[in-house]
Amino acid sequence: MDKIFNYINGELVEPLSNQWLDNYNPAIGEVYSLIPDSTKEDVENAQKAAKNAFPIWSNSTIKERATILQRIANLILERQDDLAFAESVDNGKPLALAKKVDIPRAATNMSFFASAILHENSESHQMSQVAINYTLRKPIGVVGCISPWNLPLYLFTWKIAPALATGNTVVAKPSEITPMTAFLFSKICIDAGLPKGVLNIVHGLGAKVGFEITKHPNIKAISFTGGTLTGQKIAEVAAPMFKKLSLELGGKNPNIIFADCDLEKAVSSSVLSSFSNQGQICLCGSRIFVERKIYKVFKEKFLKKVKSLTIGDPLEKSSKIGSLVSQQHLEKVLTHIEVAKKDGGILLAGGNKFIPKGKCSNGYFLEPTVFEGLSYDCSTNQEEIFGPVVTLMPFDSEEEVLNFANSTKYGLCSMVWTSDLKRANRMSLKLDSGIVWINCWLVRDLRTPFGGMKESGVGREGGSYALNFFTETTNVCISYD
Ligand code: NAD
Repeated sequence: MDKIFNYINGELVEPLSNQWLDNYNPAIGEVYSLIPDSTKEDVENAQKAAKNAFPIWSNSTIKERATILQRIANLILERQDDLAFAESVDNGKPLALAKKVDIPRAATNMSFFASAILHENSESHQMSQVAINYTLRKPIGVVGCISPWNLPLYLFTWKIAPALATGNTVVAKPSEITPMTAFLFSKICIDAGLPKGVLNIVHGLGAKVGFEITKHPNIKAISFTGGTLTGQKIAEVAAPMFKKLSLELGGKNPNIIFADCDLEKAVSSSVLSSFSNQGQICLCGSRIFVERKIYKVFKEKFLKKVKSLTIGDPLEKSSKIGSLVSQQHLEKVLTHIEVAKKDGGILLAGGNKFIPKGKCSNGYFLEPTVFEGLSYDCSTNQEEIFGPVVTLMPFDSEEEVLNFANSTKYGLCSMVWTSDLKRANRMSLKLDSGIVWINCWLVRDLRTPFGGMKESGVGREGGSYALNFFTETTNVCISYD
């Protein structure tokens, strides 16, 4: 059985305990590799390596760092077919999606931050006749990056790239459910000549490895993406230690369709924002609010497209819907579907496990599922399901839909479909969301602030937001006198 290794101090190493965890191919339902069940001692070694590497890396020139990060980006692109295949096998996502989105974006994350540091400006503040202030930004030291399973390499690199670019050294942990591309990434870092100890990747369970990273006194900042409950646990440990914290958490995003929208576009995009990656994207819109005047026609068009989505082997070109990430997650989503039925939800599409013919017959597939007839405040419309389950709800006015949209504890993103610019601006002002997409979904400019409000997170990633997070600020005040 293939083994995945930790990447510590520039080398691929076994966990000190020699204990291993099963890694599943979710589309087949079988274990296909083993991952380190790392412990405190592995984290300690990773932290030591990162600490030793910090003086040299933080003193390297911006150009040196940018060159190495760009080399890593190039190698990701050179190996993109292998990486996309590995991502699809590990996660269950369609290979086509991994090829189109996950892996190119991982390369872009590296090259984006490689070039961002070349173009950075620092601030200065003049006090006429008195003094001039300028702002120094310094790397923090050793930082921790912890990422989830839904966009494995995409989100892993989204944190690591700005952390390294700004001169920090890193102890990182990918999800134990999808560790493979992080392992392949460690090989890329070696081949790109990243100095030893600058990045260390420790595989294993959140409650062990993630917890040890979070509580280590020498790890000064934690950048975390994952569930809201895990974010809470991390904050409980890290906040009393006054660590810098960036928390990108769950969502329950509203997708709001006004009658004056471009209906065909709204329908097509809503199918994507509901079911891409089997609905396992934090930015998916799982609550679809449709203005009553067009509710019936939207519903017909939407259901027609949903029912035509091909479910099956993620490696097949024709598959638009792959498998969910794990048996446990599939069971969780099925439980949510049962609750929705009990609460009076009317099933318009899906609702069942899907069993493909052939080699994927034991995989964790679920039909894209659409409900109507549920109230905006029932648990199906309040709790994050993080799977291919959406609800349709009619509304009559802007005021009413704002109340529906803002009713959850989350505030990650919202989609608004309308041709009325004034309405789009009014809605954007009033929606409790870190991101509002008007007449589009998942259009990303990496310079923009990314993150959520309420229980969707604390802080923002992207562009200068990430560069600021991974640096400490010193104001230098020079007297004119
Ligand atoms: P999760 O919280 O279970 O795990 C995320 C990571 O945290 C994993 O690496 C895990 O091992 C680790 N972890 C678990 N317990 C830990 C602990 N006590 N201390 C430190 N680390 C710990 O999340 P998941 O199931 O992997 O991912 C799904 C969730 O992620 C969803 O809620 C989704 O909305 C969210 N998500 C958010 C964003 C965003 O940008 N806001 C993006 C993607 C996913």
